[in-house]
Amino acid sequence: MAPERYCYAFEEGDGKNKHLLGGKGAGLCTMTQIGLPVPPGFVITTKANVDYLESGGQFPEGLMDEVHEYMEALEKKTDKGFGNPENPLLISVRSGSALSMPGMMDTILNLGLNDETVPGFIKLTQNERFVYDAYRRFLQLFGKIGLGIQDEHFDKIFEEIKGKYHAHVDTELNAKALAEVCDRFKELIKQKTGKPFPQDPWAQLVMAVDGVFKSWTGKRAVDYRRQFNITPDMAYGTAVNICTMVFGNMGTDSATGVGFTRDPGTGENILYGDYLVNAQGEDVVAGIRTPRPLRELRTDMPEIYKQLEQLRHTLEQHYREIQDFEFTIERGKLYMLQTRNGKMNAWALCKTSVDLVKEGLINEEEALLRIPPDFLEQFLHRRIDPDAKVEPIAVGIAASPGAAVGKVVFDADRAERLGNEGEKIILTRIETKPEDIHGFFAAQGILTSRGGKTSHAAVVARGMGKPCVSGAEGMDINYELKEARIGKHIIKEGDIVTIDGGAGAVYLGAVPMVDPKVSDDLVMLLQWADKISRLEVWANADTPEMAAKAREHGAKGIGLCRTERMFNEADRLPLVRSMILANTPDERKRWCDKLLPMQRQDFYDIFKAMDGLPVTIRLLDPPLHEFLPTIEELLNDISRLKEFSQVMYSLEQLPGTAMMIDPELYKLMPSIETMTREFSEYKTKKLDQKLLKQKEEVLRRVRVLTEVNPMLGNRGIRCGISFPEIYDMQLQAIFEATALALRDKIDARAEVMIPQVCTAKELEWVKERAVRIHGEVEKRYNVKIPHKFGTMIEVVRACLRAGRIAEIAEFFSFGTNDLSQATFSFSREDAENKFLPIYNTEGILRDNPFEILDVMGVGRLMELAVKEGRQTRPNLKVGICGEHGGQPQAIEFCHQVGLNYVSCSPMRIPIARMAAAHAVIKEKGRAVTKAL
Ligand code: PEP
Ligand code: MG
Repeated sequence: MAPERYCYAFEEGDGKNKHLLGGKGAGLCTMTQIGLPVPPGFVITTKANVDYLESGGQFPEGLMDEVHEYMEALEKKTDKGFGNPENPLLISVRSGSALSMPGMMDTILNLGLNDETVPGFIKLTQNERFVYDAYRRFLQLFGKIGLGIQDEHFDKIFEEIKGKYHAHVDTELNAKALAEVCDRFKELIKQKTGKPFPQDPWAQLVMAVDGVFKSWTGKRAVDYRRQFNITPDMAYGTAVNICTMVFGNMGTDSATGVGFTRDPGTGENILYGDYLVNAQGEDVVAGIRTPRPLRELRTDMPEIYKQLEQLRHTLEQHYREIQDFEFTIERGKLYMLQTRNGKMNAWALCKTSVDLVKEGLINEEEALLRIPPDFLEQFLHRRIDPDAKVEPIAVGIAASPGAAVGKVVFDADRAERLGNEGEKIILTRIETKPEDIHGFFAAQGILTSRGGKTSHAAVVARGMGKPCVSGAEGMDINYELKEARIGKHIIKEGDIVTIDGGAGAVYLGAVPMVDPKVSDDLVMLLQWADKISRLEVWANADTPEMAAKAREHGAKGIGLCRTERMFNEADRLPLVRSMILANTPDERKRWCDKLLPMQRQDFYDIFKAMDGLPVTIRLLDPPLHEFLPTIEELLNDISRLKEFSQVMYSLEQLPGTAMMIDPELYKLMPSIETMTREFSEYKTKKLDQKLLKQKEEVLRRVRVLTEVNPMLGNRGIRCGISFPEIYDMQLQAIFEATALALRDKIDARAEVMIPQVCTAKELEWVKERAVRIHGEVEKRYNVKIPHKFGTMIEVVRACLRAGRIAEIAEFFSFGTNDLSQATFSFSREDAENKFLPIYNTEGILRDNPFEILDVMGVGRLMELAVKEGRQTRPNLKVGICGEHGGQPQAIEFCHQVGLNYVSCSPMRIPIARMAAAHAVIKEKGRAVTKAL
């Protein structure tokens, strides 16, 4: 076996092997090899980090020998010496794993500086200020990463010295002041570690590599991986990139910047980014100074601008993907320091997907695969109502689109706490740092007073799809007073603001918003998706409005219309209650007759909205008590009524107004207003003993209907069989609505769906009645009424008896909400509120089965049901209408087991269409890999 190798020079490493070299290392190798200007360097592999972690923090054997070898090669290439006081080689030591984790791990710059090399470097550069600036940056980074001293101790010293020399920004500090900063930093290191700052560059290098290795298991990185579900097979360990330092802060012919090969906000095909003259890379990303847009470089440094223009095309041609790169200009010479696939918002992602296909760089399937289905959620973000007459109180940089309303919170920890309590938060900071990441997760949006489009806040917010306004002009934040001043406005913590990350605007209070609209590029992509998808996407929609929205988003049918939602309308509920509480079938039928025209109209309207597409109508499902008042409410009403009659009686005996009521009586009433209102109700409705009797009768019936386990009780088909008048009425309404729609030239296609079925006999029982009612309606309307008759599969037994059930059902629809509950034998509400978080942290259940389909258990039941159902009825149509129907991973599974459609909420339809296409493309990819 070849000896383990831990280092690769940028000329040697395989740029495709991100797993081994990390994303940054792979990018540096590729750029070097395609002829872009990269400073010389080498990569220590992720394998070295993994071996280090697995051995409990020991450097793998031979690692440092290799590092020495590569450092010597670097000395030769650069003609400098590591630790050489005359001509020192300075390096950066940067982390970088297979997946980009922006700012989550550590980086040290200017390593190699010490008290001896500093004077040499000054002689060489003839720039004392620059060298001390580099030294103080190195001391801080090294102190933090190599020695574990918190940033704030360094920041405090730096601020003190700025104060002493009356400097507002760091560039106002001269060499002497910066040298003083360096001395103070070295004192701090000694004080905190008990040892002097290590002067030996080799010792510095060992400690820096050790610090970067450790950062993989640091809290920030671990939290980030957990949040974004980055598993070890996706990225394990960080590489360490050792690169010759180049300086963007060597004067006005030097600069540093971040670029995108296209605009990540709009997708427009232009060079895009920010730069800062006379600055180091971290200044741009940290948002410490507000950078200038890259287009200004065209006049500032035209040659370099031209070079960047060429370079962006080279990068795109090579990667066939939009790149996000970092560069430095040192004394008029351009260097590339990083490249990676550009993160962008959903609009830009869709636009660039379509454009890259048009430009012939990728094909339609590759264009689709660029778009993570869940990302399309951003199209579903709300925007500020364009008609709202509002004036922003501040304008900043439109750093991440979408609008958000929330309470201003100035601190990430508090934002996290309040966010977890359900508050809507706008995390508001001068600038953000990686350690604020938990605040981002909890916030609706991010607002900063400093920084540009490539500041930390902007990059992270865009990645998360959260609105962000950065560099809000004129906003002065005071963390101590917990307030921000903008002109005459003072915003205190807890005040509500609205931010518009698409326009960069900040408003006081909650501004009205409008629903989002899908872009033309997305429409095109979804057409490409539909062309290859096998699964159709249907919608769960209960109203004509929802149906229209579903259709607009491309639904090919309604997979679930929950009729109970119609029963809950204000004008229906009293009728529904009376129908449920009826004492006899005749009485129930009379109430059902009153509901019939309403349901008929409901169905007619939905058929009209879905003209020509199937509409799956589920007969009544929930337990009846959901429509009734609770026993507690009734008992309250009754006791109140009793008190009330007593009071009214007394009132009638008393002359004058309510104010003259005996104080004892007064106590019975909560307030004068309530009493006055109730008094007038009393007068108009003649509340009396009769009402009391009625309430008592309702209570009696509710007690009769009460069940021990209503969710497992008389609901769904069981209720349909015990109270047949309800299903009869619904069937009649469906068939009559179809007949009326057909008469009006609407192509109505009803699919009647029965809930909670566990045995074929139940279905047979309903089907017989359906056939009879269908025949009667056809006769009465003298028209052929097309329809299908099918069932939900949401009971474990139904999965096991699917073969028999398919003898009667023409279609199945998996109700994975109930099926998951039944398979796990615990309910969503109790699980999520009580033990699921513990199961999650204990590693017992990684996912919430009500959000992520449990493929191993529930999925297995589904697979069995599909197989056995189709054995009986080969053309059995099978869909899914539980929440999982809109969830990309579940959609992939549904594709694999041969479902015909997934049905999800109208807003998730674009996501589901994209996921359905991904399922096909991934399947093809697997087939190709297998064939190889
Ligand atoms: C289901 O159980 O998955 C389903 C769609 O029905 P409901 O959520 O209405 O119980
Ligand atoms: Mg259900």
